[in-house]
Amino acid sequence: MDVLPRTILLKVLALEALAGRVSSNHLKYPQILESLRLERAGYNGEKSMDYPLKLLDKEKYFIFNGLRLEGTDFALQLDTYLLSQYFSVIFESKNWNGQVCFKQKPCQVVRILDGIEQGMPNPVEQVKTQKYNLNRWYSQNQMPVLPLEGYGVFGNSTIITIDKGYYEAEKSICKIDYINSIIRKLETLYKTPILTQKELNKLKRRLLKANTPQLKNYLSTFNLHQSEVRTGVRCPDCGLLAMEYKKSSWHCPSCECISDDAHIPSIIDYYLIFGPMISHQDFKWFLHLHSSSVATKKLASLKFEKIGKTKSTIHKIPYEFISANQEKSKNGTLLAGKCGKV
Ligand SMILES: [Zn+2]
Repeated sequence: MDVLPRTILLKVLALEALAGRVSSNHLKYPQILESLRLERAGYNGEKSMDYPLKLLDKEKYFIFNGLRLEGTDFALQLDTYLLSQYFSVIFESKNWNGQVCFKQKPCQVVRILDGIEQGMPNPVEQVKTQKYNLNRWYSQNQMPVLPLEGYGVFGNSTIITIDKGYYEAEKSICKIDYINSIIRKLETLYKTPILTQKELNKLKRRLLKANTPQLKNYLSTFNLHQSEVRTGVRCPDCGLLAMEYKKSSWHCPSCECISDDAHIPSIIDYYLIFGPMISHQDFKWFLHLHSSSVATKKLASLKFEKIGKTKSTIHKIPYEFISANQEKSKNGTLLAGKCGKV
């Protein structure tokens, strides 16, 4: 059962929001687009896991997509995590092009693409670190210990070679087509239930509660100032960032589109670029609202949590607001882009 459905990664959404609000003439614009291409490719690799996992017994397995957990001094994010009464498995997706060689002496991963060799992060070590951290998290949170396995999963078109004797790579690297046979093998290996169904349900609830999606601050990554972000409400029809609020609706001066809720994707953009905290002043500034009373009314209608009671009240945009309105945040051009491989 898909208990944590795969939503488009916050990183992809944040880069899309930024790319849509930084001028295409800006020096950093090509870098933003390149980061977006890489993040989209990663997301696509994770998404390709959905089909083989759909074939699993829904009663037997809980599937967590993009689960992120924070320990006392570490954090871990799992592309795909499978949980059962008998064992659990981490699948780390790798959507790489070309030929990937796992070399043993010295231990390294080389990718050959268009005749050019490139050193890559070793998925064997990544999976080992994920397993180590997940076990630590279970132990820090006094959770029951289940046998834990981990695999780096490559798309079917990637050619993989593994040096003879590199047993760790042979054991933990696989192609996406083999996911189901791996799970069947694990089912024959772990035949004793460690958890009752009730305990498994409890563990599922605790993992969902502990899930903490992270929002990366791309303004600092690209060394951008707030003034370099284009503000305003985007027209849902023509895409112009110039909608004006009058007579209780948003009006586009270019295509004459009228909308009641065109500000929602802009609030999502604000969250993705600046974070969840927004003041009355920020709200007016970002949406180009000239009237304080209109801004107050609009903010109140959104029912965000208020922090502080004076003039400096801050409103907190909840994560659920983003996931619930994700479709509306698509501006039609950027999200429609191809999600290629890395
Ligand atoms: Zn328009």
